[in-house]
Amino acid sequence: MTAVEMGIPTVRSSVSLAGRPDVDHLVDRFGRVARDLRVSITEKCSLRCTYCMPEEGLPAIPAQNLLTASEIVRLVDIAVHRLGVREVRFTGGEPLMRVDLEQMIAGCAERVPGIPLAMTTNAVGLEHRAAKLARAGLTRVNVSLDSVDREHFARLTRRDRLPSVIAGIRAAADAGLAPLKINAVLMPETLGGAADLLEWCLAEGVALRFIEEMPLDADHEWARENMVPADRLLAVLGERFTLTEHGRDDPSAPAEEWLVDGGPATVGIIASVTRSFCSDCDRTRLTAEGTVRSCLFSDQEIDLRAALRSGADDEELAQLWRGAMWNKWAGHGINADGFAPPERSMGAIGG
Ligand code: SAM
Ligand code: SF4
Repeated sequence: MTAVEMGIPTVRSSVSLAGRPDVDHLVDRFGRVARDLRVSITEKCSLRCTYCMPEEGLPAIPAQNLLTASEIVRLVDIAVHRLGVREVRFTGGEPLMRVDLEQMIAGCAERVPGIPLAMTTNAVGLEHRAAKLARAGLTRVNVSLDSVDREHFARLTRRDRLPSVIAGIRAAADAGLAPLKINAVLMPETLGGAADLLEWCLAEGVALRFIEEMPLDADHEWARENMVPADRLLAVLGERFTLTEHGRDDPSAPAEEWLVDGGPATVGIIASVTRSFCSDCDRTRLTAEGTVRSCLFSDQEIDLRAALRSGADDEELAQLWRGAMWNKWAGHGINADGFAPPERSMGAIGG
């Protein structure tokens, strides 16, 4: 088994471009090519999910350090036209916290027509913006929803906003933002309501994926012994549904799918910890402050904002991005001895 398959990080600090082939697209030392760009646009959020944010929220990014909408549009343009990116997803923090989101999406839709523009959101307030976002050019949304029990939701997110989330999901479906997927992080507290959540998603006609909790919480409280592995979830869901293994629709898709009661509905499981898929990772990430981050778990970041604001041209920015990708780690290393979580939490990187 290779280091990539085992999810072992092989580069910790030094940046070297030795051996990088002279190609335009984003390729790393293990031959992986990034086609999927995640753009974090804010650290702010309307919820405080315990597995992600501290109770008081993340430290505020000074306004001058945040990429502007037009800077984001320019970097997305470079990613697509010079680096071969084929899908762009806006995330955060909570992307709906930015009032210029529609403007940013409209700008991207104009510069990169035909490229899917997606958003990962908690859907709080989405009911008032889904139609405008769709008109601006947003194509689909993934909504994070861990429980359909109002009290339970309020405890997990530290905010009593379940009705707004549900209204947001329905508004997104009405606006044609499809396919609409629900993401639920697997926590010991979530497990008891997992079958209810699946039942709700089946009734609403939306796809559900469970995600294993990763050591990316701002409070650094993740512990392997408290983590709910995919196998345990399957056993719990199996008490109410008949699940048949269906595999992955495409090898770089993180979710393994199970047919529910013979199909056609499925439930997905993203077993990021117990069944690492680093060897098929096709992601590159841009943080809200304009750094390129090639792996969630590596604190190694390349500053595009400074270069962009000091007058670098598109090709110079593309070249910096290629260098960041070349040094991407083999894997997250969660299961390796001596693993240490990254400094930034999920909400500060962009999930
Ligand atoms: N606020 C938006 C949302 O919640 O969808 C976008 C940002 S959030 C950081 C993106 C995704 O990361 C969500 O699906 C969330 O559930 C997931 N996430 C956050 N912390 C996580 C953790 N410790 N382990 C696994 N997934 C996590
Ligand atoms: Fe906010 Fe999303 Fe993190 Fe929850 S997971 S605290 S909604 S950024």
